[in-house]
Amino acid sequence: MPELPEVETIRRQLAPHLEGRTLRDVEILDARWTRPDAPGPVQDALRGRVVHEVGRSGKYMVWSLSGEMHLIVNLRMTGALLFDPPVDPPHTRVRIALDDGHLVVYNDARRFGTGHLVAGDAARDAYLGDRLGVEPLTPEFTAAYLGAQARGRLAPVKSFVLDQKRIAGVGNIYADEALFRARIHPLRPAGSLRGTQLAALRDAIEYALTAGIDAKGATIDDFRHVDGAQGSFQDLFNVHQREGEPCPACGTAISKLVVGGRGTYVCERCQPRPRPRPQPKAVSGGEQL
Ligand SMILES: [Zn+2]
Repeated sequence: MPELPEVETIRRQLAPHLEGRTLRDVEILDARWTRPDAPGPVQDALRGRVVHEVGRSGKYMVWSLSGEMHLIVNLRMTGALLFDPPVDPPHTRVRIALDDGHLVVYNDARRFGTGHLVAGDAARDAYLGDRLGVEPLTPEFTAAYLGAQARGRLAPVKSFVLDQKRIAGVGNIYADEALFRARIHPLRPAGSLRGTQLAALRDAIEYALTAGIDAKGATIDDFRHVDGAQGSFQDLFNVHQREGEPCPACGTAISKLVVGGRGTYVCERCQPRPRPRPQPKAVSGGEQL
């Protein structure tokens, strides 16, 4: 599933091809893509618009178009945006012909991805604001922000880091890698982190995302660049998907747990488990202790 670094990679590859171009023709072949809106009107509204900017917020790509319209694209599980694919991809859902003769194809095997057209900057900001917390690669992402968000939370820090309404764009890969780097166990209650750990977590998230962007994303499932090539961050994983392999820091075998329903990889030595919280004493009568 593409996370911030994967979406940012696609954005950087696509922007030079799209910015300044006119969407000459748009064919939406799958009605699920625009749901709950019908594909026909979206297709008509896109046709003839100039792409001013290809931006990103969290895992969303935002195409800002002439007439203050915004196409908000979410690749979700298996969505891919391909530029001039040599053959028609097997799961083509949207085909966009540009005025310079080039073609952008949205391909999606599992069809969870979406394209949402919104009118006006305020509507764009409302759509993203409802779904996303702070952008982790901006100055607003501070240890103090993390501390304020985590305060009083008993949820595991892994689930906290994955919550898009707190930190935009971090998914399973980068959460595992960041927690390893910060030496924090994924089951630690988010609210139990101290100041130095919050600072370490902030820095580790920034580091992992930046390393992911530098490696042009991680290809572990279907993620592909706009030319069909793969990312290489999977070759740099310290813990993610490395169950049983040695921890690069201490040699202990990496373990796999499930946290918040997500496969989670951890070095139980570098990332010490939280101490169990004291259990209330049994008060029922007749029990021999
Ligand atoms: Zn270790």
